[in-house]
Amino acid sequence: MEAIKTFADPKVCLDVVAGAKWGSRGPVCPRCESKRHSFLKTRLMWKCLDCQKQFSVKVGTIFEDSPIGLDKWLCAMWLLANCKNGVSSYEIARDLKVTQTTAWFMVHRIRHAMHTGSINKMSGTIEADETFVGGAARFMHKDKREQKIQGRGPHGKEIVFGLLERNTGRVHVEHVSTRRKGELTSAVRRHVRRGSEVMTDELLSYDGLDSDYAHKVINHAERYVDGNVHTNRMENFWSLLKRSIKGTYVSVEPFHLFRYLDEQSFRYNERKLTDCERFQKVLGGIAGKRLTYARVKG
Ligand SMILES: [Zn+2]
Repeated sequence: MEAIKTFADPKVCLDVVAGAKWGSRGPVCPRCESKRHSFLKTRLMWKCLDCQKQFSVKVGTIFEDSPIGLDKWLCAMWLLANCKNGVSSYEIARDLKVTQTTAWFMVHRIRHAMHTGSINKMSGTIEADETFVGGAARFMHKDKREQKIQGRGPHGKEIVFGLLERNTGRVHVEHVSTRRKGELTSAVRRHVRRGSEVMTDELLSYDGLDSDYAHKVINHAERYVDGNVHTNRMENFWSLLKRSIKGTYVSVEPFHLFRYLDEQSFRYNERKLTDCERFQKVLGGIAGKRLTYARVKG
């Protein structure tokens, strides 16, 4: 409610987005990069004094080409940044009075802004684990069901691989196509610094990490915790993820799964921030991340 009230003022929305996009440098013409401009108060746009063209704050952001007002965009961002168990596009459609298709598209673009691939590799003690999600095959149309059952995951489920860095409590999760050795160990190598300690279960796919990591294995057939050798925190994240997928989303198409993962890991990694700080963080991801409808649809 606070968000809806705050973002009801178009000038506030404009200032928020302009601040996130240009920072203290102020508006820059997207065509000629000139910084000389005049502000058109009635249109809430700028006019470039060099090329004489008008430009909007939406150009070059996830809002580009969208007829939806910034008030609705910012409210949707607030909801996605802060609702612990996720928000469905149905709820967004109802709350913001847009069609469900529009809401779905907005949600996908916002998830795109949440995708902050960290440039730093994880280090210290890392929990690595994989899980299966989706696969409610019995509710599907027959053609689709057959397609699913022949999929690569067991019983048509999708495989998600995750890493949790214990000293920061941050996770990295990604959708993988198989649980084969090469796929899982290369994901570890891509995201974890050599020499770190890696905890996994006894799955054979993790064999071979010994050469680069202090690899510790917990045998889940015997026990779940062996001193500090466990993957409990990663498993805790899996239960949050599954609850969110079950409670919020009607079905997660495999192609879109990575965006749901981005959203869930974003909220998890930024859980210690205030609602306002988390919103600012999503806002930081809006520029240079335009996503067209064709790309969303695949
Ligand atoms: Zn210009």
